[in-house]
Amino acid sequence: MDVFGLVGNPVGHSLSPPMHEAAYDELAIDARYVTFEPAPDELEAAIRGADALGVCGLNVTIPFKQEALDLVAADELATRIGAVNTIDFSGDEPTGHNTDAVGALRALRDHDVALEDASAVVVGAGGAGRAIAFGLADADASVTIANRTASKAHTLAEEVPGAAGQGLEDLEGVLADADVLVNATNVGMEEDATPVPAEALHGELAVLDAVYRPLETRLLRDAASVGATTVDGAWMLLYQGVEALELWTDREAPVEAMNEALRSRL
Ligand code: NAP
Repeated sequence: MDVFGLVGNPVGHSLSPPMHEAAYDELAIDARYVTFEPAPDELEAAIRGADALGVCGLNVTIPFKQEALDLVAADELATRIGAVNTIDFSGDEPTGHNTDAVGALRALRDHDVALEDASAVVVGAGGAGRAIAFGLADADASVTIANRTASKAHTLAEEVPGAAGQGLEDLEGVLADADVLVNATNVGMEEDATPVPAEALHGELAVLDAVYRPLETRLLRDAASVGATTVDGAWMLLYQGVEALELWTDREAPVEAMNEALRSRL
């Protein structure tokens, strides 16, 4: 039996086990997906131990994504993003990847959102914002990063090719000509709030909210009410998992079965 898993702290509410195990069932792969919760200073020991025990692959989540970068042979995209969310143990040494960026792009493309030459606004400059901003730039979109702490948006914009950075002021101005808006903040998770004023939204926008609890955030409700295309955070979660599974198994992921397993638990 192959073992895959998730390393994070906490990981109790993770939706990755049912999502990945639905894929193993569908593909008739004899495998299990297990959650691991090492102490904050035990990531290195956890990765070495997993490697020694023959674990095939690990996802990595908060608070370990940045630290994992220095503990494995990270690929070019993960290195640029500064975070690893997927470790593959199949080679001579563990390799590190970041499937959050591609997950967000696949979520948008799955909803027929064209990214090449699109004008995209990413609200948030934390882990998710970084991954999505690099992903969009790689897809040849022009990216504006808007963050509550404006200095973080400016710093990130210096790293992302062609990007501009700003605070959360004048979102209406910057969104007027935008094609894509991504919420990569925590806003909308705990309370019915939105980081983007409803007046700034319009029907030509495609709006991806990285928040997936709840699925229908206030931002997505506001966006739908002006006729914008809406993409909820479960799509991004789904496709980062799909990408990891395809990397580990070299098989085409059963996207529908994984999506069903995920959404039935949200
Ligand atoms: P993070 O690194 O802690 O970053 C949090 C971001 O949210 C920062 O930009 C922060 O701005 C901003 N923020 C927090 N509270 C705010 C507020 N009240 N008003 C305005 N901005 C605020 O977190 P993360 O890992 O990037 O995660 C961000 C969100 O993405 C979470 O909701 C997470 O669940 C979601 N996510 C989803 C997926 C998926 O697959 N769907 C994957 C990863 C993350 P400051 O810099 O000013 O503090």
